[in-house]
Amino acid sequence: MEKSTNFIEEIINNDLESGKHNEIITRFPPEPNGYLHIGHAKSLCINFGMKTKYNGKCNLRYDDTNPTKEDIEYVDSIKKDIAWLGFEWDAELYASDYFERMYECAVMLIEKGIAFVCDMNGEEIREFRGTLTSPGKNSPYRDRSVAENLELFRKMKEGEFVDGSKVLRAKIDMASPNINLRDPILYRVLRDTHHRTGDDWCIYPMYDFAHPLEDAFEGITHSICTLEFEDHRPLYDWVKINCGFDPGPRQIEFARLGMNRTIMSKRYLKKLVDEGFVNGWSDPRMPTLSGMRERGYPAEAIREFCERVGVAKSNSEVDTGMLDYCVRENLNRNADRVMVVKDPIRMIVKDVADEVYDIENNPNDEVKTYHKTSFSGELFIERDDFMVTPPPKYKRLVVGGMVRLRGSYIVEYVSHELDADDNVVSVTCRAIPDSKSGGENAGMKVKGVIHWVNANDYIPCVLHEFDYLLVDGDGDFSERLNKNSHMIFDNAVGERSLDSISAYDSFQFMRMGYYSAVGTYGQDDKYEFNRIVTLKDSFKMKK
Ligand code: ATP
Ligand code: MG
Repeated sequence: MEKSTNFIEEIINNDLESGKHNEIITRFPPEPNGYLHIGHAKSLCINFGMKTKYNGKCNLRYDDTNPTKEDIEYVDSIKKDIAWLGFEWDAELYASDYFERMYECAVMLIEKGIAFVCDMNGEEIREFRGTLTSPGKNSPYRDRSVAENLELFRKMKEGEFVDGSKVLRAKIDMASPNINLRDPILYRVLRDTHHRTGDDWCIYPMYDFAHPLEDAFEGITHSICTLEFEDHRPLYDWVKINCGFDPGPRQIEFARLGMNRTIMSKRYLKKLVDEGFVNGWSDPRMPTLSGMRERGYPAEAIREFCERVGVAKSNSEVDTGMLDYCVRENLNRNADRVMVVKDPIRMIVKDVADEVYDIENNPNDEVKTYHKTSFSGELFIERDDFMVTPPPKYKRLVVGGMVRLRGSYIVEYVSHELDADDNVVSVTCRAIPDSKSGGENAGMKVKGVIHWVNANDYIPCVLHEFDYLLVDGDGDFSERLNKNSHMIFDNAVGERSLDSISAYDSFQFMRMGYYSAVGTYGQDDKYEFNRIVTLKDSFKMKK
C-alpha cells in the first residue's frame, strides 16, 4: 500500500530540515495497569513506525508512577505483546527509575519560587479551582516562603504527613482560561508498595509533571500522545522549560482509536476479567493483543489495519468489520486450506477403494504446495450438506441428487438412514466412475461441492466460535454484554494431516472460515481450534 505522509511526519520532516533534530527518538509509554489492546497497537504502530521510517529510536517506557493499580504481570505481558506485534524497542525504561531526578526537579521549582506545598484537601482544591467560565481562587498556602516549602516538601518525602494531607503544586495562574494551568498538583502523599521501588517512596509525582520529565530525560524528540492531552500541552511545556529543558521534546496529539462493539478502556476490560465474564485478559474474544494472538489474528494483519486507519486529528469510530477484513485478507493469502467437518453425519460411498490425494494448500501461492488427504468408502460430511426436505435453492446433496466431494468423485444418492427422532444418521451414495478432476465424467453438472473427512482416518476436533462481546448499540457497556459470545462444537472431525501441526497455526477450513490451533494444541490428544473470522462478511472496504 502506498504510504502517504501524515501530519506527524510533516512535523518531523520540518524538524529535520530546519536542523532542530538530526535523530528522531520516540517512545511508547504504557502504564502497567492492564494488558495492551488494539488501541495501543495504533500508538505502537505510530511510534515504532517513526523509528523505522527515520532510522531513529523508540523506547519502551513504563509509565509506572501510580503504584496503586500497577503490577509486574502487566509489565511482562506488555513486553510480550509488543514483541509479538513485531517491534523492537531500543531501551526498556521505567519512569520509577527517575523518581530521584523528578524529586530534584520539584525542589528546583520550589527554589525558583514557582511551586508550593498546599494543605488543602482534594475537595477544597477542587472548589478553589473555579470552572470553565469562572476563574479560580488562590490557595491560602500559596505565599509560603521558599524555605518553608523546601522544609515541608522534604518532610512529605520523609513520611511525616498522612496520605492526602499535603500536595506540592505549581504556582502558575489561578485565572488561566486553561484549567490545567490553575496551580496543578505535582506531587501527592501516597503510601502504597510500588512494584519496583517497594516502600522507598511515599510521595508520587502526578502524570502531568512526570511525563514531560520522562520524555526530557530520555532525549525524546517527539512525544506522541492522544488528543485528550491537547489541553495539557501548555503544562507539559511549562514543566519541561522550567526544569531546564528548552526546547526539549515536542508533544504531538493524534486521535485515539475507537471501534464500535469494542471496549477500549483498560479499566473496563479489567472489570470483565475480574468479574469472570471472560476467561482472563487473553480470552480470544478480548480486544487485547494477547486475546487476538490466542484467537489467531496474524500480527501483520493488525499492523495493516492500523496503517489503513491512518493518523487523524479528530476522533472517530472505526467499524470493527474493517479489522476483520484485514485479518481475512491476510489469512486468505497465507492460510493453508484443509477439510474439517463441524457437525458430522456418515456417508457411505459404494464401490470405491482407499485413495490418497494431494490437496493444494493455497490457490494464492505462486509456488504450489500440497498436503496428503486420504479417502475411503466411509466419510463424514456436514449434517447441513444433505437434506431430505431441502429449502428452496439448496445446492448440496438431496434425495436422488448428485454432489461433488471436494478434490474427489461426484457421488449420487442411493439411500439414507434416520434415527428414532427422524435425524439423519447416514447417507449412502455411489461414486460416478471417472468423475474425478480430469476424468471422462468430470464435466457432469452437479449442484454443489461439499467437503468431507475420511471416517477411517481422522482426528477428533473441538471448535470454538466467537461473537462480539457487545451487542450493537449505544447503551452502557454493562447492559450490552453478549451472553452468547462463545460457542463450542465438540463433535467435529478433521483430516489426519492436522495431527502434525503446531499451536497457533492458522488454516482455512474449507467452506467454513479461518481457524487457528489453540495454544495447547495436540497436548493430551486435544485438538482444539479457535475460529478467527468467517469466510465472508458484508463489510465493504473503501478503496
Ligand atoms: P486506557 O484508557 O485504555 O487505560 P491509556 O491511554 O490510559 O488507555 P496507557 O497505558 O497510558 O493507556 O497508554 C499507552 C499509550 O497508548 C499512550 O501513549 C496512549 O495515548 C496510547 N493509547 C491508549 N489507548 C489508545 C487508543 N485507543 N488509541 C490510540 N492510542 C492509544
Ligand atoms: Mg493511562
